[in-house]
Amino acid sequence: MSRFALVDCNNFYVSCERVFNPALEGRPVVVLSNNDGCAVARSNEAKALGITMGAPVFTLEAELRRHNVAVYSSNYALYGDMSRRVITTLGQMVPDLEVYSIDESFLDLTSFRKADVPELCRTMVVTVKRNTGIPVSVGVGPTKTLAKVAAGLAKKHPCLGGVCDVTDAVWRERALAATDVGKVWGVGRRYERFLKVRGINTALDLTRADGAMIQKRMGVNGTRLLSELTGTRCYPLEANPPVKKGVGVSRTFASGIEEQTALTEALSTYAERAAEKLRKEGLRAGIMEVYAMSNRFHRQNFYYNTKTVRFPAPTSDASELIKGALSAFEEIYKEDIPFKKLGLHMRELTLESQEQRLLFDTVDRTRSSALMKAVDAVNGTMGKRILGYASSGLSDPKTWRTRFNHKSPSYTTRWDELLRVS
Ligand SMILES: [Mg+2]
Repeated sequence: MSRFALVDCNNFYVSCERVFNPALEGRPVVVLSNNDGCAVARSNEAKALGITMGAPVFTLEAELRRHNVAVYSSNYALYGDMSRRVITTLGQMVPDLEVYSIDESFLDLTSFRKADVPELCRTMVVTVKRNTGIPVSVGVGPTKTLAKVAAGLAKKHPCLGGVCDVTDAVWRERALAATDVGKVWGVGRRYERFLKVRGINTALDLTRADGAMIQKRMGVNGTRLLSELTGTRCYPLEANPPVKKGVGVSRTFASGIEEQTALTEALSTYAERAAEKLRKEGLRAGIMEVYAMSNRFHRQNFYYNTKTVRFPAPTSDASELIKGALSAFEEIYKEDIPFKKLGLHMRELTLESQEQRLLFDTVDRTRSSALMKAVDAVNGTMGKRILGYASSGLSDPKTWRTRFNHKSPSYTTRWDELLRVS
């Protein structure tokens, strides 16, 4: 029988902030989305105050002040680096690991003896906390879906010490009965309503539901969900995620931007970033789609346009991507339109290792890839954007930069922002 564990970091963004600012312990904390728009992470204390996920921050201001809530902008450099540390620590204990999201990993424990699993899980909780400062919950079960159910209970009930194992039938039934059907992996809002109308309120109810009815409404994924909940594995560990279909970089601006220079600087930066993302994954793109839109709430004057650029050969060269993006944008740009969102999407991705050279190529591929390697090496060791392209703008501050007015320092990724103890 297979055995999976799901390791889930508790209130991850908030926990990252607390590692470097222990005064936040016990205090309500929220972390905001891009442009400080709405709450995307909450500490347990903030949840208890009734602050909901996705609540726009301007509706919360009075309440945040009244309860002395600590408010932070998203610090992606910090969260990404802390996530890497957690994953590295887990990988040293269990080699079969699938990174599912920034704060969740699946581990395949099938090769461990059943008797050793409880001790292993407790060690994971303690070691991750000691090595990184991040508290985690561990759920164990014969399928990924059951491991996720178990992790939910481990988080909800501190008396379990951060670990919940639903391998045994008795515990599994109790766990399923205690889990709201809307919280089951893959159910989602729409199906939750459909199921509850039919009296299926818990995960346990779902395992007893009519299979034909579930398949009719939820399709093959519904059938798989039932099997997974009853202990039959349908989803294997995906240790090597499939090759990506696309790479995208886009931003929504805090307010509309009309100025062409600002917009081309922003787009040039996104192209640079997209090229970097491609290289990091060992990929090249054959096509780039550039798109831009005005504020979608201003219906009468709504403007959306997109242009596709096809490269002579698949590429991950930043200067080629920038050139393509800027020429496409010249056809999209219109004066007097306040642009609210701008982005690009790279498609037709191929692996660098499957490169086919053109007979008459205008780009010196060997030279270009050496240059890109050098740029990545410098930026990798000395900090982001030490080397960049002039078209992405040299002056600061920039109107198009995403607003992060309450961001904590990049404690772990920038030398000049190291935590000082005085
Ligand atoms: Mg989490």
